[in-house]
Amino acid sequence: KRASELGKRLVWHNDRLAQVTDQSLFILSEFEEALMTGQISVFYQPKYSLIDDFVNGAEALVRWEHPDKGMVSPSLFVPVLEHENLMEALTLFVLRQVVEDVERWNSVRNPMGCAVNISASLLANPAFAKRAVAIIRDSGIDPALLTIELTETAALSSQEMAASSLNQFKQLGAHLSIDDYGTGQSTLTYLKSFSADEIKIDQSFVKLIATDNANKIMVRSSIEMAHALGMKVVAEGVEDIAALNVLREFGCDTIQGWYVGKPVARDEFMQRWCLNLFDSSGGTSAPDWVG
Ligand code: C2E
Ligand code: MG
Ligand code: MG
Ligand code: MG
Repeated sequence: KRASELGKRLVWHNDRLAQVTDQSLFILSEFEEALMTGQISVFYQPKYSLIDDFVNGAEALVRWEHPDKGMVSPSLFVPVLEHENLMEALTLFVLRQVVEDVERWNSVRNPMGCAVNISASLLANPAFAKRAVAIIRDSGIDPALLTIELTETAALSSQEMAASSLNQFKQLGAHLSIDDYGTGQSTLTYLKSFSADEIKIDQSFVKLIATDNANKIMVRSSIEMAHALGMKVVAEGVEDIAALNVLREFGCDTIQGWYVGKPVARDEFMQRWCLNLFDSSGGTSAPDWVG
């Protein structure tokens, strides 16, 4: 009986492995073509300032619309690309799109900033920072409109290299944020080693903040700590007004989440959040407190 249990488990394990490998293989074999044929695009999610009471920025979130598989989630393909060193191509693609869009947005509504996710592993490569900085500089946009969100799907290999890459962005005038704050092992280390302007508290702490006392305490003390260190705080994953109210009470600077708005394609972001052409016909219109 035990042998058959073990056998079943092994079969399950093999299936799972085959599935995972399959997925990675399709991502690796099709990603570059996807990038060239317009399957990859950048969506934008609004960020709402609780201090000024209006939307003053966005986060760029990559999307892959596969002709057969439909939307492929970045949480699926980003880790695979990371593993195969394809992240640089993706990130520079996103950045080129972002500087173009930030310029368009700010011609009608200023200031409208944008955050770009950058994997910590990319910072180990000095050539990447150079290329990225060149894209920002050549675009002519005010670099202060950009925030680099340091994401940690892979461990940092060299702290010094990463710090020197981040310095290039900082010297240019871009802001630096620590994404998914509170998860992973390195967030406090990051705080000490890099001069971040902002922490972005992970949605796992934010979602149930109105009802979960432990989450409340952790978020409140993170906000206090960040402010004491001279940093701003963004809370991600705000899904209802109850969470918003708690965060406002705690002095959180900026919120992001479905309650304000979901990530949308670039044209829709322009319409809804820069030109304020809200769709009044459906359930997609912005809450009326959004300025
Ligand atoms: P992230 O940077 O922490 O982005 C926040 C994620 O939470 C996004 O998922 C967003 O759609 C989702 N989200 C926002 N508000 C809510 C909410 O109220 N409720 C819930 N349940 N979810 C919410 P998404 O777009 O699937 O991206 C997943 C992750 O993929 C990102 O997490 C980021 O780590 C990574 N990613 C996305 N685009 C890029 C990119 O261009 N470069 C890199 N390196 N990573 C990226
Ligand atoms: Mg992010
Ligand atoms: Mg995040
Ligand atoms: Mg996250």
